[in-house]
Amino acid sequence: MTIQVAVNGYGTIGKRVADAVTAQPDMELLGVAKTSPNHQAALAVENGYPLYAAVPERIELFEAAGIDLAGEVEELVAAADVVVDACPAGIGAENRSLYEAHDTPALYQGGEDADLVDVSFNARGNYAAATGADHVRVVSCNTTGLARLLAPLEETYGVEKARVTLVRRGGDPAQSGRGPINDILPNPVSLPSHHGPDVNTVFPDLDIDTLGLKVPATLMHTHSVNVTLESSPDAADVADVLDRQDRTYLVPPDRDIDGAGALKEYAMDRGRPRGDVWENCIWTESITVEDRDLYLFQAIHQESDVVPENVDAIRALLGTADAGESIRRTNEAMGVGF
Ligand code: NAD
Repeated sequence: MTIQVAVNGYGTIGKRVADAVTAQPDMELLGVAKTSPNHQAALAVENGYPLYAAVPERIELFEAAGIDLAGEVEELVAAADVVVDACPAGIGAENRSLYEAHDTPALYQGGEDADLVDVSFNARGNYAAATGADHVRVVSCNTTGLARLLAPLEETYGVEKARVTLVRRGGDPAQSGRGPINDILPNPVSLPSHHGPDVNTVFPDLDIDTLGLKVPATLMHTHSVNVTLESSPDAADVADVLDRQDRTYLVPPDRDIDGAGALKEYAMDRGRPRGDVWENCIWTESITVEDRDLYLFQAIHQESDVVPENVDAIRALLGTADAGESIRRTNEAMGVGF
């Protein structure tokens, strides 16, 4: 069975998901839907992706811009086995009735509220929970990064309590309107930040507190992590466990990769599309254990770490592969793993 996939919302996340779906031998990208005939719409057509108007009243704008449409979003949704909604936060909730009207199961992104969906999803955390669901939310970039880290720690050592400070990029590189420009903001200033409760949508019983900051950077987020474990492994043992995960990259001490800039440069030099870094990047030297307290730093590429998770969520929802098989296939087709 080839899974017919629609992508509604073709921006930062949507265009990456469209490419990742196209790379999967068991999936076919039926088309993408966009609201405006901008450079990304033109490129979608150049890529050979059938382009659908997300808002019927705006069809004329595409015609005026000389960008060919294959139809309206409703036709795309009706024909698809699953739709990936990658619209801005809150628009997914507005689109839900469209997907329901056509009985098309839908994936949403982390900007939507958890109560919009049946299941909040992370492939490493709770893959099987999505099987048979109609509405699944792939959790945000930060929550994805935390779920990938905490799942093996919980399974191997037990987690008594996780405390994470998230140093968050102010905006994505193309988000010229977002800030801060020259500041360091406690954001949100009250505790906990929403990230801890969001991790609990995947692991309801995990004890986690999170604090957030925003800084004038666009490249990646950085997490400063302290996890009190239920046992006292040595640091080398923890590094080994984390290194064996499918979507982690343990930054080697001897490669002079000192931050997000070097990580992005490394990804570009390795020929990654858009310089994407799909893996949690954990600095090996930072992995420290004092009694039962584990400390480490990890960097998370906000624009891309959720992309392989969306691909897995499609298989999970339709029940076409188990977690191990899906993660293996997704990674192989996309080239995940440095
Ligand atoms: P984006 O603004 O880059 O892209 C959204 C796209 O959807 C744009 O092209 C926009 O024109 C289009 N759109 C707007 N209204 C639409 C509608 N009614 N129908 C169809 N398309 C419409 O946003 P993004 O960064 O890709 O974020 C999308 C979702 O992914 C949000 O929930 C966000 O929270 C989440 N997310 C974003 C990031 C990130 O860092 N960018 C990371 C993880 C998750």
